[in-house]
Amino acid sequence: MMKNFQNCLWIFLLLSLGGCRCPSKELSSQPAVHSAPVAQLPAESMMGVKPPIKDIKKPKLSKAALIVIDAGHGGDDFGTRSLSQPKYHEKFLNLTTSLALNEFLQKMGYRTRLTRSNDEFISLQKRANFANDQGADLFVSMHYNSAPAKQADGIEIFYYKSEINKKRSTQSSQLASSILAQVIQATKAKSRGVKEGNFAVIRETKMPAVLIEGGFLTNEKEMNKIKEPAYIKRIAWGIAKGVEAYLNERSVSLP
Ligand SMILES: [Zn+2]
Repeated sequence: MMKNFQNCLWIFLLLSLGGCRCPSKELSSQPAVHSAPVAQLPAESMMGVKPPIKDIKKPKLSKAALIVIDAGHGGDDFGTRSLSQPKYHEKFLNLTTSLALNEFLQKMGYRTRLTRSNDEFISLQKRANFANDQGADLFVSMHYNSAPAKQADGIEIFYYKSEINKKRSTQSSQLASSILAQVIQATKAKSRGVKEGNFAVIRETKMPAVLIEGGFLTNEKEMNKIKEPAYIKRIAWGIAKGVEAYLNERSVSLP
């Protein structure tokens, strides 16, 4: 009985997060990644992930944290894409995931800003400048992956290792580890680990920053999961929980 109730809450949450904010013009020519009937998904598609709604608590010590969410690519920059038809383009998947993450973080009580909330091109430097100008506490850039080897799969998270600002590097690495642990728990995907990366958005930002590669669009099996809205929301939920765990840990450890 209680389990049914929780399932209903979970489905309600998914539906309340649903709804595409992308311009309909772009979406009409793209795979309907946003519009699958989530409520009709079989129960097993939830893969045993516990309904998250009961876990949502208002943060205690870190309520003022501002998180800038960066949906990678956009506009003429499509990012990578699936090999199978219909083509799923990374820029839309990044945006869908980022919007779901935005909803989760806001429900948790955090402040958020998005570098883009629709399908537009924004330069890498502008994205970093935006986060710096906003005085963000954390920066999370969302991407999906590709590889020539079709069997490559799993989730990996990058941070920038700087010899000049070692504190930020350490914090970024900790944030990456925290997010990866929660995303793997939420998705049951393969962990490819936390890695160093020299990407502009995580190099030019001044706060702890990570770049998440949420899975390989070139892996047919993984792509079949990523195209399900419920799976993308599990990724977003894992990221949100990882951010929360990182911030709570730091709040407690600070004098
Ligand atoms: Zn990308």
